[in-house]
Amino acid sequence: MLKVLDSAVPVACWSCSIGHNDFTLFCPHCSKIQPPPGGDYFSVFSLAPKLNLDLAALEHEFHRLSRKLHPDRFARSQDNEKQWSLADTALLNDAYRTLKDPLRRTEYLLKLEGAEIGEEHSGKDRVDPSRVPADLLEEVFELNMQLEEMRAAHTSGEKDAALEASLLDAKEKFEALLQAVDSDLRAEWLVWDAGDGTVRQPSQKRMVALLNRRRYLSNLVRDVTETLGA
Ligand SMILES: [Zn+2]
Repeated sequence: MLKVLDSAVPVACWSCSIGHNDFTLFCPHCSKIQPPPGGDYFSVFSLAPKLNLDLAALEHEFHRLSRKLHPDRFARSQDNEKQWSLADTALLNDAYRTLKDPLRRTEYLLKLEGAEIGEEHSGKDRVDPSRVPADLLEEVFELNMQLEEMRAAHTSGEKDAALEASLLDAKEKFEALLQAVDSDLRAEWLVWDAGDGTVRQPSQKRMVALLNRRRYLSNLVRDVTETLGA
């Protein structure tokens, strides 16, 4: 079930002038569409900010609101309402894309809580050697040497089966570490969702560290995959 927020900024409806909270896409009194609301992505769906979400309910609500906001429904409305149907739809789409994805959702909520996180899914940048997780230093050093060798072998057209096998092993190992990070993250979701401020602060720190480790590991896996496939 979707939970309705109890705290919100009251605003007067442009159409019926009755006050309602600033989070809603439609006036609860006259049902008229409202300008893009001022809340966060969770409040677009009338959800409390949590990391564990009922994804089926989220999807259902997304489709319901999409239909209600569809620009075709406002073909004969005044210009304001037409524009709001487009702007509200764009907001709804952004909110849904962010909340349905576990990593984006986690990053988004942590940022709402004021946490500093690196680039989201930045993808393209090379692994930054200054940010190697301490427990992986040796392996990453070894891996980088092997990657260099492999690139050199590709350039000179040589085949090195032993090197290739070793890189495949490394890739599997880093993929397993990635899965461990994901299960640690899911465990933190439960801690954060159930906790109060004193529990949430340290939990947020652990999640930021896990997200950084995750980004680092997935860049490594991508580097190995690219080098092997080159
Ligand atoms: Zn109204």
